[in-house]
Amino acid sequence: MKSKSKIVLLICVSLVLIACFCFFSSKVSRPSETGNETTGTGVEGTENETAAVTLAETAPETEPETETEEATEETQAKTEPETEPETEPETVFIPIETQPLKPGEVQVTGITLTIYDLSLNVGETRMPIVTMTPNNATDKGEIWVSSDTNIATVDRYGNIYGVAAGECTVTVTSTSNSAVYAEVKVKVKAEVTELTYIDGILIANKTYALPKTYAPGWNTEGAAQLNVMFAAAQTEGIYLKMQSGYRSYTDQYIIYNDYVARDGQAAADRYSARPGHSEHQTGLAFDLTTTYYNGLWEGFADTPEGKWVAENCHKYGFIIRYPKEKEHITGYMYEPWHVRYIGVEKATAVYESGLCLEEYLNITSSYS
Ligand SMILES: [Zn+2]
Repeated sequence: MKSKSKIVLLICVSLVLIACFCFFSSKVSRPSETGNETTGTGVEGTENETAAVTLAETAPETEPETETEEATEETQAKTEPETEPETEPETVFIPIETQPLKPGEVQVTGITLTIYDLSLNVGETRMPIVTMTPNNATDKGEIWVSSDTNIATVDRYGNIYGVAAGECTVTVTSTSNSAVYAEVKVKVKAEVTELTYIDGILIANKTYALPKTYAPGWNTEGAAQLNVMFAAAQTEGIYLKMQSGYRSYTDQYIIYNDYVARDGQAAADRYSARPGHSEHQTGLAFDLTTTYYNGLWEGFADTPEGKWVAENCHKYGFIIRYPKEKEHITGYMYEPWHVRYIGVEKATAVYESGLCLEEYLNITSSYS
């Protein structure tokens, strides 16, 4: 009786084990049978589906063994790609993602800038204007990067900001074509804090800048002498008027950047001073024209008014600051309308020397 019941018990246990084995193996084999689109029942089934789909994306060859291990592998695939060599090429870091062109889309093939050499002071911001070609390019997006953010930073719109004195390169790249880019050489200068007087004359040219905060307004003596000169001219039938005089650092900043946007930096530098470098910021420079004309033009030199100014302004303390054929020395185009007040004695000496102010004082005028 005892041996019979033992045999019965053994058979029962064996049956239970076989049943368990059958159930277990059918459950595990299900994902591979249905090609990863496994659907189960209940909460466990949903987890299993998620894990299986994720694995199909990252490691299609992996044979899932248990639910717990599937979940572990999923986590590893996301956090430790180096343990799954097959998925590595998909996770390689690409600095600039270039999207493939869709039918009808036009790729950017060139970039031009208004500024390639940028010289700015600490705390100053400037923005080169970007033109992407062809004009009908689909995506004209820009990516801006600075080679050294300790010297100059750049935002997503291309505003370059001087952080500290030094040199670096700012690069703009097309978002639709990473092979197309342009570089701006950036030189950040330490902020100017002092005025430069040479032979008692306050200097503002391309070499010598004025402090950003220097805002003296109109020079009283210079403005008074201008009125004396205008009155003297009138007695000779010459009618002069002033077109512009004192300009603040901020005024010049706006004017100069407008010119750069319109004509490009190289052209703008021939006729307009960079902020901090304008003589107009001294309050001692005046642009003259005739009473019958509004504006400044080179032809002023050939008018009776222009000729009178060139021959007589030194008697009132003024010099033609940017004479003809001295552009390589003054750094500016001929401006027969721009006079600078330096006092009668000095103006007369400069006039009689036939030299421009830089030659007379033996100084340079260059942004270098
Ligand atoms: Zn001027």
